[in-house]
Amino acid sequence: MIDQIYRKTVLTVAGNKSVEALMRSRGWSLAQRFVAGEQASDVIGAVQELQKDGIGGILDLLGEFVDSVETANAFAEQILALMDQAAAAGIKPYVSVKLSGIGQGMTVDGQDLGLTNARRLLTKAAQYGGFLALDMEDHPRVDVTLAQFRTLVEEFGHAVVGTVLQSYLYRTEADLQALGDLRPNLRIVKGAYLEPPSVAMPDKADVDASYRKLVYANLKAGHYTNVATHDESIIDDVKMFVLSHGIPRSQFEFQLLYGVRRDLQKKLAAEGYTVRAYIPYGRDWYAYFSRRIAERPGNALFVLRGLLKG
Ligand SMILES: Cc1cc2nc3c(=O)[nH]c(=O)nc-3n(C[C@H](O)[C@H](O)[C@H](O)COP(=O)(O)OP(=O)(O)OC[C@H]3O[C@@H](n4cnc5c(N)ncnc54)[C@H](O)[C@@H]3O)c2cc1C
Repeated sequence: MIDQIYRKTVLTVAGNKSVEALMRSRGWSLAQRFVAGEQASDVIGAVQELQKDGIGGILDLLGEFVDSVETANAFAEQILALMDQAAAAGIKPYVSVKLSGIGQGMTVDGQDLGLTNARRLLTKAAQYGGFLALDMEDHPRVDVTLAQFRTLVEEFGHAVVGTVLQSYLYRTEADLQALGDLRPNLRIVKGAYLEPPSVAMPDKADVDASYRKLVYANLKAGHYTNVATHDESIIDDVKMFVLSHGIPRSQFEFQLLYGVRRDLQKKLAAEGYTVRAYIPYGRDWYAYFSRRIAERPGNALFVLRGLLKG
């Protein structure tokens, strides 16, 4: 419950316009702990560094909730260019995208623009032997994102497109079951948004229990599972679970955020697990950075100390 109060406080304060203005003007050097840089070349360089330790990268151009067709299309164009640049550098592009950033909810020529742009991204990702993951955003977007995921799997196959389920939502167990026929590639996370108790579990112990349940169910169903957490006790339990159920290492991977628990990322890779770090880059870093601060009180202290140092 205290975790929940802390998270709610940080995300509410972060939504304040003056705080946002202060952070945008003075917070970039602090945000760079979690964000690889502003340019595509920065994220590509970060992947190459991680690859030296046997860690793969998930490329994420920062941007969400855009409000014009032009911006959404420009954003999609930037991701397409990123994929070309990654491929030219010898990296199969594994990209994550927020559908709200590429036009979800805007209708153009009778089609949802998010879906149209996702098709463009997937066509290119498939051409390069890459992958597209649809990030999960706040709860009003879950239905539409899952419906669009279904459409995209039916069109492109489950080997090139995946999505995310959040263990804090009460609905998620049912969502996991409903997706079963797709043999989905799913990233399981706890959930990073400020959600009301009517839709999301307020108690961290429940969120953690739900997390384990979802990962185990997806693994037992034989579907590829991206275990996306920094929670070492969960990671240890998953290692035991796969051993005791004879689940091969080729059926799951661990995913962690760039700049968070680098020691653990290296350790897992050295143990022979597939590990990928989610690496954001770009100018629109504020919302992402706020969610990272909200995940850990130590991060708020790090920001305060940084701002006081000037
Ligand atoms: C690869 C990846 C992709 C994600 N995609 C999504 C998504 O699409 N939608 C979504 O809602 N959420 C997403 N998330 C965020 C997720 O929902 C959680 O908010 C985040 O991962 C923190 O939860 P945790 O599982 O690490 O567990 P927690 O219980 O929050 O943390 C476990 C331990 O990890 C460490 N830790 C956790 N977060 C941080 C941090 N920011 N800085 C430093 N240490 C930290 C702390 O030591 C903590 O004690 C993603 C997370 C990852 C790793």
